[in-house]
Amino acid sequence: MVPSALRRRLWERSPPPPAPPPASAPPRPPFAFAPRRLRLGPHHPLLEDGDVQRHLYLREALTGRAEEVERPRVSEFCCHISGCSQVFDTLEGYEHHYNTLHRNVCSFCRRSFPSGHLLDIHISEWHDSLFQIMAEKQNMYKCLVEGCAEKFKSSQDRKDHLATVHLYPSDFRFDRPKKAKR
Ligand SMILES: [Zn+2]
Ligand SMILES: [Zn+2]
Ligand SMILES: [Zn+2]
Repeated sequence: MVPSALRRRLWERSPPPPAPPPASAPPRPPFAFAPRRLRLGPHHPLLEDGDVQRHLYLREALTGRAEEVERPRVSEFCCHISGCSQVFDTLEGYEHHYNTLHRNVCSFCRRSFPSGHLLDIHISEWHDSLFQIMAEKQNMYKCLVEGCAEKFKSSQDRKDHLATVHLYPSDFRFDRPKKAKR
């Protein structure tokens, strides 16, 4: 309950009606910029660290103190993969973590992949020194879709195929180009 004296003061302080705009001079917008669409290429560094972000997000989501915890709890345990110290209190959380981050991991560069098929493709394209040599002579870039036998001259051709035949989003990104070192 607001004391009546205070209420009166609040009433008195209610804002005056807005002044009509001046007849001359059109109102100036508060900002002086023209909106324009910014097209970031699929390899733009801003978009680069999706894997890391996903990992951080999952870690947050899994260890965050959620209010609505009703699941049966097991005593906390750690991920057993060396170098990973994530702690879990549910098997589901652990399973999700394992499938996302440890099931298909490249032993050369530690990137993780959603399927063994993608991991195989990654290893041959990124870590097999014969790949580039062979790719100059024949189509070596396999379609990312399991069961599709198409191969392509370049990853760009594959990307076009993925977008047109398999309806992947055009900004889909599987293979980052190798970073130029130094
Ligand atoms: Zn782990
Ligand atoms: Zn790798
Ligand atoms: Zn295909």
